[in-house]
Amino acid sequence: MPYAIVPGSFDPVTNGHLDIIERASRTFDHVTVAVVVNRAKSPMFTIQERVEMLREVCAHLSNVDVDSFDGLLVDYARSHGAGIIVRGLRAVSDFEYELQMALTNRRLLPDIETVFMMTGAEYSYLSSNIVREIALLGGSVEGLVPDSVKQHLRQKILLKQ
Ligand code: ADP
Repeated sequence: MPYAIVPGSFDPVTNGHLDIIERASRTFDHVTVAVVVNRAKSPMFTIQERVEMLREVCAHLSNVDVDSFDGLLVDYARSHGAGIIVRGLRAVSDFEYELQMALTNRRLLPDIETVFMMTGAEYSYLSSNIVREIALLGGSVEGLVPDSVKQHLRQKILLKQ
């Protein structure tokens, strides 16, 4: 039974992420969106907040659940019995890093397969980074993130002021 993991930082989840998650949900029997606990970055949202936002925006997808993990992705995949990692590809610039990660993960766990999905063209420029920048500078993120994420961004920025 094809069981796929969609890993990422999701700080916060954007419409580009959601596009990939929806494509994965149509392609695989079961999908876990897994938020990576990455100590190297200084995130805007806590892991719990990112998981909560993802659960809200994935509520309509009955074969998708949301989790978080610390450590190696291949260890998480192995312990959950997932054989597929799904990553989104936007531009050629994503390719080098994604190839490196996919080959590294395959070396660590030969059974794991990384599958790349092309983003919808309208989201090809979109990243969490861009969304955070726009929101922090007071611009509109309409159409870039799901409505519920817009509310979370508003609250977060009000709290910062
Ligand atoms: P990471 O920190 O692991 O790159 P991200 O949260 O930035 O995590 O992205 C998670 C996944 O979603 C990655 O596979 C990334 O390529 C993909 N992704 C991010 N933004 C988009 C987008 N606009 N369209 C398609 N895929 C995207």
